[in-house]
Order: sequence, then C-alpha cells, then structure tokens
Amino acid sequence: DDVLLHVENLHKHFKVDEGWIASILQSVSGDDPDYVHAVDGVSFDLRRGETLGLAGESGCGKTTTGMSLVKLHDATDGDIYYNGKSLGDATDAELKQFRQNAQMIFQDPFESLNPRMTVYDTVAEPLRIHNIANETARVQRALEFAELLPAEQYFDQYPHELSGGQRQRVAIARALVLDPDFIVADEPVSMLDVSLRAGVLSLLERMTEEFGLSVVYISHDLSLLRHMCDRLAIMYMGKIVEKGPTDQIIENPKHPYTQSLINAVPVPEPSVGRERVELQGEVGDVIDIPSGCRFKSRCPEYIGDVCDEVVPPLEEKSDIEGERAVACHLYEDLHGTDPAAAFKSG
Ligand code: SF4
Repeated sequence: DDVLLHVENLHKHFKVDEGWIASILQSVSGDDPDYVHAVDGVSFDLRRGETLGLAGESGCGKTTTGMSLVKLHDATDGDIYYNGKSLGDATDAELKQFRQNAQMIFQDPFESLNPRMTVYDTVAEPLRIHNIANETARVQRALEFAELLPAEQYFDQYPHELSGGQRQRVAIARALVLDPDFIVADEPVSMLDVSLRAGVLSLLERMTEEFGLSVVYISHDLSLLRHMCDRLAIMYMGKIVEKGPTDQIIENPKHPYTQSLINAVPVPEPSVGRERVELQGEVGDVIDIPSGCRFKSRCPEYIGDVCDEVVPPLEEKSDIEGERAVACHLYEDLHGTDPAAAFKSG
C-alpha cells in the first residue's frame, strides 16, 4: 500500500476565550460555550514519496491541520492512520515512534529556534530525546545536507548570529536528523527575504528526493505550491473544497473558490487570459457556522436553496474527469446518492 498517512474526518475545535466574566455567566445560564471550528471534517491521504499542498487563505485551518498531522495537538474528533494503524489507538511507545517519523518545519525561523541553544544542541536535541547514537556524526551530516558548510563552524553559533535563511536551514537539519518518513512544512519561506527563498526551496526539493520523504506543504501561495507539489487540497473555513493532482487543479479548477484563488495569481502571459472571477465579501463566521455551503456568501456561482441548505460533500463527480474531488452542488454526484438531487429536480 502506498498510503503513508490516512486522515479520516479530522476535527479540531478551540473553545473561544471570552474571559472569566463570560465564563461565569455561561456556567450560570447553562449555555454551551462557543467553539472555533478550525478544522471541521477533513479527510485525505498522503502517499509515500509524494508532496501534497494544503492551500487557502489565512484562518482556513491549514496550519491547524498540519499541527494535527504531527500530533502537536490532539484532534477533537476523527483519526489519523499511519501505515494503516490508528494513532487514536496507539500505545505510548508507538506514539513515540510516530513522533520520530513525523517532523514539522515552521514558518518563522526567528521564533521556532530556541535563542539560548547553539546550532549543535538545536540539531542534537531530537537525537537525545529519542536516545539515538552517533550524535556528532548525525548532526554534522544533517548540517552539511542543509548546506551549512563547513558544519563545525556553525556548531557553537546561536540563532541571533545567523541570517533568516541560515536559521531555516538549521530548522531543516533539525527536522531531518531523525530520518523521518514525512515532514510538514508550514509556509517555510514566507518569512524569508525574497532573495533567500529560491535557495531554501531547492534545498526542500532535494530533501524530498534524496530522503524519499512525503511532504505536506502549507501555503497561501499557489504559485509556490504549483512548483513544489504533486497534489493539492484547497481549504476554506475548516473544510477541503477541492483536491486532486496539481496540474489538473491549476489548469482547470472546478470549485468556485479554487477558481477565484487561481485568478488571484498573476498570469505569466496575460494574452493567454482567464475569465476573472472576483472574490467578493468576507470569510464567513467560523464560530457560528452557516448552514449549507460555507462559501455561499462569496460565491459567484451561487445557485439558490440547495447552496443554502445542503452541505456539499467532497467527492468525485461524474461530470469532472480525473482523480479529483470537489465539494460543490454545481457538479453531478458520481454515485447517485446526491443529497442535493431533491432540490435540483424540484
Ligand atoms: Fe457556490 Fe453553491 Fe458550489 Fe457553494 S455549493 S461553491 S455556493 S455553487
């Protein structure tokens, strides 16, 4: 089986922190507290050796999804299967093994590295946590792979002595030192100077190829994901609205939200042109979730009651070719179980 991670109906809800007065009033009144539905029923597979892009605007749930994948927090509901085995049922030893194989690279290399730890200790720390031998040789090899050369020269340096690009390379070395199976890279270059981005991106590409890693890239930048990823999943308000092979989604986006995101990316040859679909309005409320389709208040293709009342399921459609799934009532249900059928026929 080539599926490394299977994510099944993942939910992550955060209680809204409204302060102690609101908490007391809530407990007196018996009202349920409010929750932010950061991730609200997300399912996808990550295959061995593939690069998957999670795309969407800020606040769509992509970072929360990424943090759930490496178990930096526990999901509210749903499960993740690693090599076919449920992490929800895993023993402590199995979870420790999983944590060794699942690493994350964060957006901000100025915040993600401990300012009081040298480069050597930063990269060696995961080896110590997991009791892995050959520390010095492994740290050296990881720094060399990250093109921090000569590696020994960086051993005693502190993060404040390094540039943003060098810090992100240290973070990559730290992620690689345990020989993981997969890495979640959350906006790995967005905080870097533009002149440093290409170097770090080509390092990430080399990392994927040479280590045979599976990688989840999280980004709002579709032109970056287009370059880096085999497949894409587009998120909106905590849900995936479209997923499939990158070239199919970029060349022929089907969900109105994906279409508007792609239209926001500058076209290299404007003469080729694209019909512009302007995105109107604000992202909806992630506390008081609207009924039906969450994109309805901004959707240029809105088709009435069915969009208002029926949540569009993410599924393959009979009128869309390729290995793609789309959550939109504009397209025909493949299996004849379309919950929107009553609205359409009526
Ligand atoms: Fe637009 Fe309706 Fe499709 Fe939602 S289901 S994206 S509102 S057409």
